[in-house]
Amino acid sequence: SREIQLAARPTGLPGPETFRLAERELPPPSQGEVLVQIRWLSLDPYMRGRMHEGKSYVEPFRLNEALDGGVIAEVIESADPGFAPGDLALAHGPWGEYAVLKAAGLQKLPRGSRVPPQAFLSVLGMPGMTAWTGLNRIAAAKAGETIVVSSAAGAVGSLAAQLAREKGLRVIGVAGSPEKCAQAVADFGCDACLDHRGKEVKQLSKEIAEAAPHGVDIYFENVGGTTLQAVLPRMNNFGRIALCGAIAWYNDPSAAPPASHVWLPIIQKRLRVEGFIVSDHVAFRGDFLSEVVPLVEAGKILWHETVAEGLDAAPEAFVGLLEGRSRGKQLVRIR
Ligand code: NDP
Repeated sequence: SREIQLAARPTGLPGPETFRLAERELPPPSQGEVLVQIRWLSLDPYMRGRMHEGKSYVEPFRLNEALDGGVIAEVIESADPGFAPGDLALAHGPWGEYAVLKAAGLQKLPRGSRVPPQAFLSVLGMPGMTAWTGLNRIAAAKAGETIVVSSAAGAVGSLAAQLAREKGLRVIGVAGSPEKCAQAVADFGCDACLDHRGKEVKQLSKEIAEAAPHGVDIYFENVGGTTLQAVLPRMNNFGRIALCGAIAWYNDPSAAPPASHVWLPIIQKRLRVEGFIVSDHVAFRGDFLSEVVPLVEAGKILWHETVAEGLDAAPEAFVGLLEGRSRGKQLVRIR
């Protein structure tokens, strides 16, 4: 099977030297294992953090081994009574074409579902669960409030914005191009969406003030950078920040603003800031699905996919995700 390995730990943006395409012989599945063909691979910003050596909430990728992440896999050969060839499952697998996986780690996808299988990597998967968790369990969003969602045309942001609209909030998106902003308003439930690219903090902050005349009660934070600095002065006293991600700094932590630009407004406005990691909230996956699956099936929630074709396209697609070239969920269709 072909797979993509971590060839070197990057400093800054990953480049061609970060990745290596390699071939590997797979053993037949042992008892309790299945041989799968990977159909869809999920690319996610957190994978950039796993390229560092240091310990974090997920294990770092190992040098000269395949990168791994969320996949939709089709069972080809099964040595487990729970799975038969043809079954589709959500799994954790390599950036590769085939894999031998423990059956216990697979979640079989419902047969005959109206949503396509790869939706379980996006709107009904980890990014969707992240949006739901941040909005409900962290920010406790309520009707009538105003929320700013950054990366509003992204996998997490686009659902956070739509769920907020469903709840009756005023939703201000921030995204990285006129096209993304137009989509955030037309499809993703934003009342307004502001383009952050090439803008000074002051200008973006002024635009947020115009879009949120009563101030901002909740900030769904995905990016850090200029956007964070622009939102902070617009927060209402006792506002809440669901701190989900800070992608602007993943490749360049030194680009962060001085701590005083962040901490002082948080004190002055008595904000409640709570970081969260979606995997701590798995016990609520049933609540998430029972709320979001009917909305998706009824066509009330939209999602967008950017699909890279073939395993070889994964590294470039991953860099594109970090740089903002993807729209909605970045996937790789393996076959
Ligand atoms: P997205 O689909 O939102 O893709 C990433 C987007 O980030 C890009 O498209 C780009 O959008 C934006 N971006 C990149 N650089 C910058 C920058 N310098 N300033 C502002 N925006 C930038 O990814 P996901 O939806 O998968 O993830 C969104 C965030 O949520 C990430 O920070 C991720 O790490 C975090 N996350 C956290 C989880 C948790 O458990 N806490 C779980 C899952 C995700 P644009 O063109 O609009 O700028």
